[in-house]
Amino acid sequence: TLAPELKDTGPEKLLAPVLSAFWDEDKSWTLDVYKRHEGYEGLRKALAMSPDDVIAYVKESGLRGRGGAGFPTGMKWQFIPQGDGKPHYLVVNADESEPGTCKDIPLLFANPHSLIEGIVIACYAIRSSHAFIYLRGEVVPVLRRLHEAVREAYAAGLLGENVLGSGLDLELTVHAGAGAYICGEETALLDSLEGRRGQPRLRPPFPAVAGLYACPTVVNNVESIASVPTIMNRGKDWFRSMGSEKSPGFTLYSLSGHVVRPGQYEAPMGITLRQLLDMSGGMRPGHRLKFWTPGGSSTPMFTDEHLDVPLDYEGVGAAGSMLGTKALQCFDETTCVVRAVTRWTEFYAHESCGKCTPCREGTYWLVQLMRDIEAGKGRMSDLDKLNDIADNINGKAFCALGDGAASPIFSSLKYFREEYEQHITGRGCPFDPARSTAWA
Ligand code: NAD
Repeated sequence: TLAPELKDTGPEKLLAPVLSAFWDEDKSWTLDVYKRHEGYEGLRKALAMSPDDVIAYVKESGLRGRGGAGFPTGMKWQFIPQGDGKPHYLVVNADESEPGTCKDIPLLFANPHSLIEGIVIACYAIRSSHAFIYLRGEVVPVLRRLHEAVREAYAAGLLGENVLGSGLDLELTVHAGAGAYICGEETALLDSLEGRRGQPRLRPPFPAVAGLYACPTVVNNVESIASVPTIMNRGKDWFRSMGSEKSPGFTLYSLSGHVVRPGQYEAPMGITLRQLLDMSGGMRPGHRLKFWTPGGSSTPMFTDEHLDVPLDYEGVGAAGSMLGTKALQCFDETTCVVRAVTRWTEFYAHESCGKCTPCREGTYWLVQLMRDIEAGKGRMSDLDKLNDIADNINGKAFCALGDGAASPIFSSLKYFREEYEQHITGRGCPFDPARSTAWA
């Protein structure tokens, strides 16, 4: 699914640095540096088009949401009713907190103007005069940098009244959350932004119909919006020359874990983990890949059998998982899968907002069972119980947090049931016997 000219090329040619092209330049986050790299050219082109044409253009580019779900961005913008007399809002979800996911925060730190430019284009298209960035609260240096970039944009006439003489008036508010994973769920985020406790709302209505302050709202991920300026500037055909028909373009893949050079790898959609490992120096010397996540811990894990799965929505879906946030956490054979899943399950139980019973009670039960198994106190019947509880959360919880908690349970039991059984029959962890008493 790689563009023909990218097939059979050396690993370095597979990289497509766009958003990350000048991250290592001195003061890459400033307006001056951004302008030297096509900065705000996409906005000029967009302002020369009608808002509806901008929406159609983004739709035709095939850009899909980079927050994990892959919903078509242009289509989401098109859902905003026009002429309804209500204010429209754009809310950028910068509350990145999926385990292993670490692309939006570095992007904001190194290149905040790509997001601001994308915001202005999106607001022009959906006819919004107020946008919000909801940032993960723990990242204070990023918050400061974002504030500084927004100040620069106001001073340069790129935000505020009559942006670049276009007649568009636009206010941009940066808001820092308080560090709750659930506030990355779009409706919980909106409640939190309105000053309420962050808990998910029932959908439908989707935010496009009733979002912030019950008004039509587009909620988009940082990377989705930051990708728009280059699409407007270089063209939708350029964007479509990468990736596949249904998953076109470039994207940021975040490699972490037992790899030689972890980090952000910007590449066309559809690249494989084998190709990304080639570029990142592979697994650490003397070790081999045991399991990995295509998009953070909420997406069913893969094993070394899946090294050649194209990392796009269709490829990963056909292989039984989800592309999600493209957070590729790679674990070698020294890692205990039961330990890893226990740790993730503890995370979901801690972050469950408690609004719905399947997630609130289910994640708690999962943690108890996982800890028992890891400590060598489990029974064989616990394995069916794990499956059963995960099944009672999956698809039955209020939001995707519950599905995320069920994912690692299902997939680890599918691929590594034997390892669970070893913990039970051997009365402890075969990798680290000391851990067996951890929960005693
Ligand atoms: P979803 O598929 O329900 O929705 C995706 C987007 O499309 C939403 O903005 C939603 O409003 C919109 N949408 C869907 N159907 C619509 C309709 N009929 N009309 C109007 N709009 C519609 O996914 P979700 O529950 O919002 O998010 C789940 C994803 O979040 C997972 O794929 C996961 O990978 C990802 N995730 C990301 C992080 C992170 O840190 N980036 C953390 C946790 C989960």
